[in-house]
Amino acid sequence: MKSLPLKYRPQQLEDLVGQEFIKTTLKNALTAKIIAPAYLFAGPRGTGKTSTARIMAKSLNCLNVDQPTIEPCGECSSCRSIERSNAIDVTEIDAASHNGVDNAIGNDSERRNQELEKLLLYAGDSKLGKSQVAQLVAINTQTSLQLASAIKAGQALLVAQLTQELLAKGEPPLKLIATLITQFRTWLWTKLALAEGIKTNAEIAQIANVGNVNRVYYLRQEVAKCSVRNLSRAVVLLYELQIAYPQGMKVDSLQSRLLITCQAFQVI
Ligand SMILES: [Zn+2]
Repeated sequence: MKSLPLKYRPQQLEDLVGQEFIKTTLKNALTAKIIAPAYLFAGPRGTGKTSTARIMAKSLNCLNVDQPTIEPCGECSSCRSIERSNAIDVTEIDAASHNGVDNAIGNDSERRNQELEKLLLYAGDSKLGKSQVAQLVAINTQTSLQLASAIKAGQALLVAQLTQELLAKGEPPLKLIATLITQFRTWLWTKLALAEGIKTNAEIAQIANVGNVNRVYYLRQEVAKCSVRNLSRAVVLLYELQIAYPQGMKVDSLQSRLLITCQAFQVI
């Protein structure tokens, strides 16, 4: 079984869709062999930051070419280990989904500290300090992930409270919905992979489209108590929200729809 995101994940800059400007800039840099010491990819979830970073890493490290290339082979050990995210020289931090805040429902500052320590470990030799790593994670994204956990745990009161908090802080509802969809899809794919009898964390990471394989350890615990049926239902409800909202749905009904999604998890 090969997941759709894995099957269709772009392998070269040429395959990137919808990011023409980024594509041209990076291709020019590679062709001219003028590589900046660092590239910062910013944007909402799902726009291809991780995919682009991996393609860039392959373009710079492919063993079948002795210089930076716009056509990494995708077959050599370097290309393949980067694709599987177990390359020694390529460290993925992906702070938004690896800070474990979704494990720490509420304001557990000790837990948050531990998670930041872990992130620092992932960051390896880079000169990032704890406060810089903390800043990598947008606070609203953290709250959105807490909201996803509260929905999954069937905690209606917390769902209402966190939704209000996010909207009051000016989080765009569509961005909030997109973050929830990403999180619930990750949980659903993990649960499906486990239900299919897939055992290794590396395979589960691929199916769930999780950048860092270490995250699977936590994902297993996060989905332990929920069913495929409830997770799929939540994903469907969230997609419905994503369609209804731009068509004039009110903020109040956004909150009540999230509560309905949450109620699905109260009865297992
Ligand atoms: Zn290669």
